[in-house]
Amino acid sequence: MLEESHYYINKAAKILELTEKVKNLLITPKRVVKVEIVSEGDNGEILHHLGFRVQHDDSRGPMKGGLRYHPSVNEEEATALANLMTWKTSIVNIPYGGAKGGINCDPHNLSERELHDITRSFVTEIKEVIGPKIDIPAPDVNTNAKIMGWIMDEYSKYYGFSPGVVTGKPLHLFGSEGREEATGRGVLYALDITLNDKKTAWEGLTVAIQGFGNVGSFAARLMMEKGAKIVAVGDKDGGVENPDGLNIYDLIKWTKDHRTVKGFPGGNDMKSDLVLTWDCDVLIPAALGDVITKDNANDIQAKIIVEAANGPTTPEADEILNKKGVLIIPDILANSGGVTVSYFEWAQNIQQFRWELEKVNAELLKTIQRAYEDVKEIANKNNADMRTAAFILGIGRVAKATISRTYRVNPKFDIY
Ligand code: NAD
Repeated sequence: MLEESHYYINKAAKILELTEKVKNLLITPKRVVKVEIVSEGDNGEILHHLGFRVQHDDSRGPMKGGLRYHPSVNEEEATALANLMTWKTSIVNIPYGGAKGGINCDPHNLSERELHDITRSFVTEIKEVIGPKIDIPAPDVNTNAKIMGWIMDEYSKYYGFSPGVVTGKPLHLFGSEGREEATGRGVLYALDITLNDKKTAWEGLTVAIQGFGNVGSFAARLMMEKGAKIVAVGDKDGGVENPDGLNIYDLIKWTKDHRTVKGFPGGNDMKSDLVLTWDCDVLIPAALGDVITKDNANDIQAKIIVEAANGPTTPEADEILNKKGVLIIPDILANSGGVTVSYFEWAQNIQQFRWELEKVNAELLKTIQRAYEDVKEIANKNNADMRTAAFILGIGRVAKATISRTYRVNPKFDIY
């Protein structure tokens, strides 16, 4: 994953004419923290885990990024994802840098009591390097609002009432209206703006979605409400299709009871991985990284791909799709709704003030619209695809801030 993000960074850095020294300075994380977490299991055995926090860049503000609980969490993955967070916050122009981290545990094999103790121990180990003005974690894979509430409470024991230390908290614990659905809603807005730009209507648009978790299910529901037909949906246990469009309200109810879309009576079962190459206008990968590869890119039928997941397209596949004329709205733009509303939550916490849902959604739309227009302008100017343009914008703004903070002379970039 790190190699892939470096590929895109190198492509943008070349167009920006960054020197090797500046490029290395931008890629290198500011701080890498690795801690040992020792706690007691329900059976009295010792539980032993490693926790990571990679703080990539803070030239544009405190660092921001999710915490992942998964056996595969390691320093390399966290570094790649922290890098992406820096460019993402820069593209949507919110006053943050990037970070990412997590614990190499499997929450499915832990009781809630064990998860609670592990989370609090992790906070104790990293408390000196996080904080509302330093680094603000958020939920990611297998972490949720409840865990964010524990983090806030543990940190506040040391530093006093600090709701701004973490975002994605429950509403009753200083969370924000609209945060839970923010990434899916951001994906909807990114597609809506793209369709407007291409003068294409929602009515009858066919959409296939890989992943029906937080992001995929909210995006599916909101798109159906716009008039699109969600013709195929897949998750890790199976897939379901209906050429007339799946009823997403019913599918959400079904997955609550059955934990998978498989067997949904409102459609026909299909192999989950066929979703990616399904006959549709728009494809939304909303599950894992590296799912669109050189092996399936040629078979993709969608004309637009909106990357809800982080890193779903490998560089080889990206080139094939660009050559085929498929429009890709890249992850660092398309899934930025979550971090944007996290920023709104943090701003509300600092002001000790609450925003209505309408205001949250209106500000989110404005933010994504502006980012889309900035990226499009750079794409047109440089004859580049949207991903390269997004990296140029993200890296360009960070480079400008870094150089301005380091040197007495003005940086030479004048377009960002
Ligand atoms: P989630 O855990 O709620 O849902 C993941 C979905 O993917 C589930 O439906 C799962 O069954 C499915 N899935 C897993 N393995 C699969 C496989 N092999 N084939 C098909 N489907 C599979 O996760 P989420 O929060 O919805 O996140 C989805 C993606 O979006 C991730 O890449 C995440 O990094 C990215 N993302 C999430 C947010 C957020 O706010 N939640 C923000 C930005 C990016």
